[in-house]
Amino acid sequence: MTRIRASCPSCGEVDLRPTDLTLTIVRDADGQVADGSAYRFRCPACTHVVAKPADARIADLLRTGGVEAEEREQLQTEVDRRPPHPESPPGGPRLTHDDLLDLHLLLTTDTWFEQLLATSR
Ligand SMILES: [Zn+2]
Repeated sequence: MTRIRASCPSCGEVDLRPTDLTLTIVRDADGQVADGSAYRFRCPACTHVVAKPADARIADLLRTGGVEAEEREQLQTEVDRRPPHPESPPGGPRLTHDDLLDLHLLLTTDTWFEQLLATSR
């Protein structure tokens, strides 16, 4: 049976069977192995799950050794589909210390809410 030697950050080199590893291959638009490709295994010694990036050479080696690969297409629009950055500041003038002091003084009055409504009309 094929043995695959991999490296655990805690235990060093460990021998695995092909079925102990999972390989995820991400392919770009040209069909090349792209960033995000990785292999994972549970270390037989310390039982930690180890994940490492896999380039084209490593992916080929693992598949030749009998590791089943899950193929994925790289999402070209992944960046575009993200929501707008939540911290992106809205437009308008920056809040100054004077604005804050004005707000503080306004909030000490009993009619602050009515006054605030009046300014938004
Ligand atoms: Zn280990």
